Amino acid sequence: MIVMGVESSCDETGVGIVRWHGDGSCELLADEVASSVDQHARFGGVVPEIASRAHLEAIGPTMRRALAAAGIGKPDAIAVTIGPGLAGALLVGVAAAKAYAAAWDIPLYALNHLGGHVAVDTLEHGPMPPAVALLVSGGHTHLLQVSELAAPIVELGSTVDDAAGEAFDKVARLLGLGYPGGPALDSAATQGDPQAIAFPRGMTGPRDPLFDFSFSGLKTAVARYVESAQREGRPIPIPDVAASFQEAVADVLTLKAIRAVRETGVDTLVLGGGATANSRIRSLAEERCTAAGIRLRVPKPRLCTDNGVMIATLGAHVIAGGAEPSDLSVATDPGLPVSVSRLP
Ligand code: ATP
Ligand code: MG
Ligand code: FE
Repeated sequence: MIVMGVESSCDETGVGIVRWHGDGSCELLADEVASSVDQHARFGGVVPEIASRAHLEAIGPTMRRALAAAGIGKPDAIAVTIGPGLAGALLVGVAAAKAYAAAWDIPLYALNHLGGHVAVDTLEHGPMPPAVALLVSGGHTHLLQVSELAAPIVELGSTVDDAAGEAFDKVARLLGLGYPGGPALDSAATQGDPQAIAFPRGMTGPRDPLFDFSFSGLKTAVARYVESAQREGRPIPIPDVAASFQEAVADVLTLKAIRAVRETGVDTLVLGGGATANSRIRSLAEERCTAAGIRLRVPKPRLCTDNGVMIATLGAHVIAGGAEPSDLSVATDPGLPVSVSRLP
């Protein structure tokens, strides 16, 4: 079975194609991504209208390139991100997927983008055992309990304010590191001392919820640090601020993820979402999982950020699980909760 995945929830137009192997693993046949990130740079964030227009221009050519790369005329099924994401951006991918499903007379599966961020790991590391997933992206920060990828995901906790990726982007902007902020901050941090400034670890007190996160206090602490340095005419040690901020985020994320693995009695932690491309989140997760005897699964950075392959991979699991296809009248849901894996 060959499945095509279409992704257009934010600023990446992604079309991926995978072959399902029947044992819970998939093989990557094509992974084409067109990004409008450069068009948003001067605004310092994704402009929904621009993203939608860019998807409209990119979707056809990206689809063509993916088919050519896979060397196929058409797939056996098509999976598409139905939410969460930007309303106008989602519409473009969904409209295209519906048109191709109708023209090719193949089934359509309307899937949750966040499930794709978790499922994509099976491409590199094979079938997924019961696991805790730490999902860290531009719009979401969740701890999830995953039994089967085709089944609904159980939410253990999430951020009560900013997403971690959003905090990376805002702090990077504050430090003048440009856009997109996450990768820029990651590279600035390599020159800095992660212990230089003791930034707060939100929601880690004895009375705080075990699996929830808060990053707005951390963001404010960085802003105050920068303001006071400016007021006093001190130079801002950008690499140290970046490294110390990044350390605070990685510390809290991995601390709570390991706690969740212990509490749920599984032995595997899987990372997913754009911000898990971050070098320190990856290395600290590795260190702490090794120390705790937990198996860690981390997709390569390219597969952590948005792409079509993750939707194709989730689609293959959902189809193999016996799900009914979605109706061609299915509507997008920009606020789709993580616990709803697909729409009928
Ligand atoms: P969501 O998946 O929540 O809908 P999204 O799809 O916009 O959000 P992703 O593409 O999954 O987000 O992730 C983008 C986020 O990842 C951005 O906030 C970006 O700054 C962050 N990011 C990417 N690379 C890195 C990195 N190396 N370090 C830190 N953050 C990073
Ligand atoms: Mg993006
Ligand atoms: Fe995403």
